[in-house]
Amino acid sequence: MELFEESVALDDMSIEDFRASGHDLIEWMSKYMEEIESFPVLPQVEPGDIRSKCASTLTLEGESYQAIFHDFESTILPGITHWNHPGFFAYFADGGSVPGLLGEMLSTALNVNVMLWKTSPAGTELEEITLGMLRSLVGLPEEFFGVINDTASSSSLYALAAARNQAFPEIGRRGMFGLPKGRIYTSEQSHSSIDKAGITLGFGTDGVCKVEVDSQYRMSCNALRRSIEKDLESGIVPVAIVATIGTTSSSSIDPITDIVQIAKDYGIWLHVDAAYGGPAAILSELRPYFKGWEKADSIVMNPHKWLFTPVDCSILYCRNPDALREAFSIIPEYLQGGSDRGTNLMDYGVSLGRRFRSLKLWFVLRYFGEQGLARGIRGHCNMASEFASWIVEHSEWELVAPVPFSTVVFRYIGRHLSSEQQDACNLDILTSVNKTGEIFISDTRLDGKVVLRLSIGNIQSKEKHVQNAWEVLRRASVKAISGE
Ligand SMILES: *Cc1c(COP(=O)(O)O)cnc(C)c1O
Repeated sequence: MELFEESVALDDMSIEDFRASGHDLIEWMSKYMEEIESFPVLPQVEPGDIRSKCASTLTLEGESYQAIFHDFESTILPGITHWNHPGFFAYFADGGSVPGLLGEMLSTALNVNVMLWKTSPAGTELEEITLGMLRSLVGLPEEFFGVINDTASSSSLYALAAARNQAFPEIGRRGMFGLPKGRIYTSEQSHSSIDKAGITLGFGTDGVCKVEVDSQYRMSCNALRRSIEKDLESGIVPVAIVATIGTTSSSSIDPITDIVQIAKDYGIWLHVDAAYGGPAAILSELRPYFKGWEKADSIVMNPHKWLFTPVDCSILYCRNPDALREAFSIIPEYLQGGSDRGTNLMDYGVSLGRRFRSLKLWFVLRYFGEQGLARGIRGHCNMASEFASWIVEHSEWELVAPVPFSTVVFRYIGRHLSSEQQDACNLDILTSVNKTGEIFISDTRLDGKVVLRLSIGNIQSKEKHVQNAWEVLRRASVKAISGE
């Protein structure tokens, strides 16, 4: 006898339909990648445009996949900023690659949760294997334990939580109440994620000391020592120093070896933020910039920024994994039972559930190999130097900061323009080049001046795209001064 007239359980899309739609989707993605340059890198949309075109109520019965995909093409795609576009030079790239995309699709298909060893033995061990490969590729010693997080913001937060635990071993149990004030030291040029970590960890932004920088935007070690001494005198506990290799505005590099010495002298945790710059350590000619980072307590780098891996994938390397685990490890009843076997990666951060991110990174590392990855990074650096040389040669443009990696910070100075006029001109140029749909660059402020940034990190960006960026910029500068 049939218990129910029809099944009460939901049926998934049939495998036949999946196979057909999946083939079509790969076809669509291939075409998208082939024709990426026909899309404007920055869509010309206003806030609310997508919302107003996209149906916002659910149907009762569900819809066909074809209907959903049709709406994706007609309403979502026009609102996409194409990070894959070779003319994407804004911020730092999130440069994916085809092997990375294939790995990402596969991890979605497997849909495993890498929280305990038991819930994903292969996911747990592949994370260790992959991060071991990358560790040796960038020349870090074997004692660094690696764990993958979503973003550098999370990685730095966790590193600083471990530092906080080291400075205040009772904090996990007692909380911060009644404890002396603690301080994190970082440069004025460090990333805002360090402020956010300060807020999240209860130090507040006042608890994050912004050390001044020199003329090349590097942390001043004298100022750092002075701040630490002053805090010690007033009973404030130094918790961590955060040094940056590749700051966000200018890609400057803090003097790591000197900072290592200071951290050692005072027994302070040293965290290195190499979210962007880290992969450049693959290149032996750039290794000198990293000298000393192997002595840090923790290091963050983002393969999703400059190592051809789709978002999201950030790596936290930690010299003493126990310090990280002590900051986070709480084992609830329902997760005990055999949890002593194998590494449980949920113990090294806030998230319980963790995506199988090592799979895409493993695909990327193995597909391109040491030489391929080096060629990719070196190519980007060479193109950036070339672009910087055009700026230097042109009297109406100015290079604002050195170019150690693949980011060029520059501005239009024109002739006989006041400082305000120069700022206005650069903002005009920015708006006008980003309207072309051919390139997308970003701006920042250095020493109070508006400056432009061109950062190369996309596997699709080639010499001709960088040349085109220069032409687009020069055309925009002519337009800007003629007041059109
Ligand atoms: C991009 C960046 C971050 C933040 O990275 P997310 O992964 O987006 O959180 C932090 N520090 C530096 C130096 C960066 O370049």
